[in-house]
Amino acid sequence: MSKPHHLPGHPHIARRDGELHVEGRPLSALAQEFGTPLFVYSRQWMLDALAAYQRGFEGRDAMICYAIKANSSLGVLRVFAEAGCGFDIVSGGELSRVLAAGADPSRVIFSGVGKTRAEMRQALEAGIACFNVESEAELDVLDEVAREQPGRRAGVSIRINPNVDPKTHPYISTGLKGNKFGVAHDRAVAIYRHAASLAGLQVLGIDCHIGSQITESAPYLEALERVLDLVEAIEAAGVPLHHLDFGGGLGIDYNGDTPPAADALWKQLLARLDARGFGGRRLIVEPGRSLVGNAGVCVTEVLYLKPGEEKNFCIVDAAMNDLPRPAMYQAFHQIVPVVERAAAAAVSYDVVGPICESGDWIGRDRTLQVATGDRLAVLSAGAYCMAMASNYNTRGRAAEVLVSGSHATLIRRRETLDDQLLAERF
Ligand SMILES: *Cc1c(COP(=O)(O)O)cnc(C)c1O
Repeated sequence: MSKPHHLPGHPHIARRDGELHVEGRPLSALAQEFGTPLFVYSRQWMLDALAAYQRGFEGRDAMICYAIKANSSLGVLRVFAEAGCGFDIVSGGELSRVLAAGADPSRVIFSGVGKTRAEMRQALEAGIACFNVESEAELDVLDEVAREQPGRRAGVSIRINPNVDPKTHPYISTGLKGNKFGVAHDRAVAIYRHAASLAGLQVLGIDCHIGSQITESAPYLEALERVLDLVEAIEAAGVPLHHLDFGGGLGIDYNGDTPPAADALWKQLLARLDARGFGGRRLIVEPGRSLVGNAGVCVTEVLYLKPGEEKNFCIVDAAMNDLPRPAMYQAFHQIVPVVERAAAAAVSYDVVGPICESGDWIGRDRTLQVATGDRLAVLSAGAYCMAMASNYNTRGRAAEVLVSGSHATLIRRRETLDDQLLAERF
C-alpha cells in the first residue's frame, strides 16, 4: 500500500492508492455496503476537536456543552457523552435525544427563544443544569412553571445580545440588535433584578452567542468585554452570577478558512478574563459546528452527466434535502472524487441533486474528472447537514456510518418509504 495523502485541513480523511478513506475505512466499500447518499463520520476527528477545547480550559472550572442542533444523531451524541461532554439543547426533542444517548442531565443547558411550558416541565423534571432564557416574557412563564413543582427552582441564565458583528453570513449572525435572540444590553440589569425577585427561579449566570462559522477572534474578544461590563453592572445591582457562558460559533475550514484553534482562542479569551478578575468563575461554552463539522463527508453517486449550452451539470443522488447548506446559505463544500479517474476529461460542472428546484445545487463551477456511476465525497458535511435533512420530494433521509479506526458502525439506517408514511392518514 502506498503512503496515505491526507486532504489539507482533514487529518482523518486520506487518499490511499487513489481511494478516499475516512480513518481506516475506504469510502467505496462503505457506499457499496450501505448505499448512497451516505454520511460517514470520523469519531477521532470529534474527539480531537473536543480535546482542543478541553486543553483550552485545563485547570479551569469549565463545562463544554456540545450544541447538538449541529448533528443530533444518537451515535454522535454517544461519542460526546462518553467523553464526559455536556450538551446544549434547544427543544424537548433534543432533551430526549441527549438523555437517550446517556447524557448526565446536570450537564445539560437549554437555549432557544421559544420554549413551551411542556418543554420547560420536561426539562425541570429531568433536572437540567440551566435554562438560557431569551426574553422577559419567557422568564415569567418559566417562574410559573417552576412554582407548579413544589421545592423546585429553575436555574437561569439570561442571554444578552452584545450587539457585535461576527462577520459571517447574515442568516447565522445572532448577536446583532436586529436579531431575534437575547435581551438588549440596556435592559439587562433591570431584567436580572426582576429575575432575582421571582421565587421559582435561581439566577445562575449570563450567556451570549454571537453567530456561527466565526473565523476570527476579534468578535469573541469584543463580546467578552461587553458581557463582563454587564456582569459588573448586574453584580453591583446586587445579583451575583455564578457562571459565564460565551456560546458557540467557532468556524471550521470549509475551503481554506483559517479559524483560530479552540485552545488558542481560549488562551486569548482567558487572558482577558484573568486580567479583569473573572478567570476563576465557572465558564460554559456551547460549540456545535467546531466539534463535528469536519468529522463528516457525504458520499454520493453520479447519476447523469448533462452537457449544456451555458453550463454542464453533474447530477448526483444527494440533494438539498440531504445537504441544505448550499441552498440555504450559498455555502461552499469541497467536492472530491472517491476514486481518482485520471482518464476522464476535466470539465467544469454544477453539481446538482434530483430535486425539482433550481436551488437544488451542492456545488457550482467545479472542475471534476468524472463518469456516470462514479462516487463523489462532499466534505465538511458533519454539521448542519443530516440535522437539517428533510423529506422534500418524498426522499428518505440518508444513512449514517460512524468510523473508528478500522471499525464502521451503521448509526442510522436509511429511511424507508414506510417510515415516511407512518404518521399519515386519510
Ligand atoms: C447554534 C447554537 C450554538 C452552536 O453554534 P455553532 O456555530 O454550531 O458552534 C450554540 N449556542 C446557541 C444558543 C446556538 O443557537
